[in-house]
Amino acid sequence: MTPVSKRVQAADDAFRAIADFYDALAEKRRDGDDVCDFTFGNPNEMPLPPLVDAIRQRAIPQDERWYAYKSSDEESRAFVAERLSRELSLSFEPEDIVFTAGAFVAISIAMRLVLDAGDEALFSEPAWFCYEPMLLAADAVPKKVALKPGTFDLDFGAIDAAITPKTRLVIVNSPHNPTGRIYDADTLRALADLLDRASERIGRRIFLLSDEPYRRLRFDGRDFVSPASIYPWTLISYSYGKVLLAPGQRLGYLAVSPLMPRSEREPLRDAYFSTAMALGWVFASALMQYTVPDLEDVSVDIAALTRRRDVMFAALTEAGYEMLMPEGTFYLFGRWPRGAKDPWRALADRGVYVLAGATMNVPDYFRICLTATDDMVARALPVFREIAQSA
Ligand code: PLP
Repeated sequence: MTPVSKRVQAADDAFRAIADFYDALAEKRRDGDDVCDFTFGNPNEMPLPPLVDAIRQRAIPQDERWYAYKSSDEESRAFVAERLSRELSLSFEPEDIVFTAGAFVAISIAMRLVLDAGDEALFSEPAWFCYEPMLLAADAVPKKVALKPGTFDLDFGAIDAAITPKTRLVIVNSPHNPTGRIYDADTLRALADLLDRASERIGRRIFLLSDEPYRRLRFDGRDFVSPASIYPWTLISYSYGKVLLAPGQRLGYLAVSPLMPRSEREPLRDAYFSTAMALGWVFASALMQYTVPDLEDVSVDIAALTRRRDVMFAALTEAGYEMLMPEGTFYLFGRWPRGAKDPWRALADRGVYVLAGATMNVPDYFRICLTATDDMVARALPVFREIAQSA
């Protein structure tokens, strides 16, 4: 008999594929200068100097209460409300924003805010591998539908068919991990119409969680439209961990669309504090909240990400991999050459590590993280070619 609660066991089961991946990686991984790590969105170079400067500056206390318990810092919240309003062409109110320890916590708060035990939350696969365990740990019921094969567009027919009277939340992630797709305004309008009709059909409002931690990471000058400007019942989860490539510093926020009727928005905003407190005081640290205005215009080098994307896309496509051109994120998603035998292991045996698609329910695919160095890219390409040739 395990002492572990059933909900955590369920979350653990849902995390099995990624846990198995970690085990396989640990077995293969060796250290050394020749290793090429394309697995997760972690930095391989020194942190951005403006981030380090901001942390250093803001660490110096300006008053006695500098490091007191902090929910959401008022100045930083007003700052984000103003900047986010400009960015998304909406009028956010500071009270509708809560600073969290990354997008992870913003998602978790959103789930607790709107889902009762047994409520269903729907998302499309392949997806970030944490939605399902997080929903299970929140006593909610994950419902998964597939994205359209090949293009990885949202499948409206599948989404509509999966909605039941228990559906309360639909999660949309754009720019999308792992495919790099960005959903355009027409797509989001069609989704909003679908959710409006479905909400009416089931007799209660379906909320949309727009998980946008990669919002600032876009290639080729592409636009970004947030569902928050189209579907009023949208909650946004955001993280500074991606754009700053400093996921360990845990800074993000949850924001509710100002288009949501005040009669629903106010109870949500009033519940922010209790939710974050009850989850274990999961607000962002006071120090990171103070850095928010300093970090607004700081970003990883998108030109470098673009360079790596283009080099790898061209070389892998030529070698026989079926690659999808990402529009955003720092990932490159593709399909193994047909007939390749255990290509993940073959790459790993040669010190090249990518994320296996089996972790996201797409075993024929893999994800490359472009936060690797140019040098890793150069060293890995011949290995990718070799694996394709042996297929
Ligand atoms: N949402 C998606 C789609 C992600 O890919 C990630 C991290 O990889 C997160 C949320 C969580 O971001 P953070 O660790 O910055 O909270």
